[in-house]
Amino acid sequence: MSKLNGKVALVTGASKGIGAGIARRLAAEGAEVVVNYATSDSEAKDVVAGIEGEGGRAIAVRADVRNKPEVDSLIKSAIDHFGRLDIVVNNAGIYQFAKIEATTEALYRQQFDLNVLGPLLVTGAAAPFLAEGSSIINISSFVTRILPAESSIYSGTKGAIDAITGVLSRELGPRGIRVNSVNPGLIETDGTHANGVMGSDFQVWNEQQTPLGRIGQVTEIASIVSFLASSDAAWVTGERIIGAGGMR
Ligand code: NAP
Repeated sequence: MSKLNGKVALVTGASKGIGAGIARRLAAEGAEVVVNYATSDSEAKDVVAGIEGEGGRAIAVRADVRNKPEVDSLIKSAIDHFGRLDIVVNNAGIYQFAKIEATTEALYRQQFDLNVLGPLLVTGAAAPFLAEGSSIINISSFVTRILPAESSIYSGTKGAIDAITGVLSRELGPRGIRVNSVNPGLIETDGTHANGVMGSDFQVWNEQQTPLGRIGQVTEIASIVSFLASSDAAWVTGERIIGAGGMR
């Protein structure tokens, strides 16, 4: 596989879960990869070591994507190290369902700051460096289609991401930069294990409602991202690709 040879990719939140899977897949396709993380230093280094073990090139860069100076420094690290930037995957995100009565400012800030402000800051800082043919991929969620109860804040963040994806496809399209979202269904990740979704009634409900009868794996989202990152998707922008086993 080499369809991303010569490209440099930044994946936010790539120390774990879907982001780690995306970083590995883009590297396997030939991209040099910036593995961003916030706190999980050793996991990020493991992702880099895994990529290097397969003959690829990657660096781990710590930056909180909610913080503009740290984001600016993240983009500078990518350019300083690899000399260019072609693919930006806004993946870092957090999910916490809650009844509307349980809404707090803290729950709102926690999710909107990471899931919405983060991609805005990263994309804004990266945009001046992106050449024609570049690709931005925002990791949204199938919640913007199925709108599950008790997910107002989280679904609100991902609805914003779907809207921002469309806006930026228009804003950056004239420069030959494509902007799309990938909207995963329930995926087995570090995050879904840590927050108790794995093994919960929500997992069972997902399996029952999904035509393919199971939940997804990170490799199944990474393959969609690698398609959108490549010139195979040269005529695709402003779109939302739902990877959810047919659940609707
Ligand atoms: P995860 O396993 O919890 O991993 C989250 C990643 O985000 C980690 O690498 C974490 O790094 C990083 N991160 C957290 N805060 C950060 C910050 N402030 N700055 C930079 N990075 C930060 O998550 P996941 O389940 O793979 O989900 C990834 C994305 O997919 C999210 O946007 C989520 O909304 C979306 N999604 C997930 C599912 C699912 O079922 N898993 C379904 C639909 C959509 P550290 O560990 O270093 O903090």
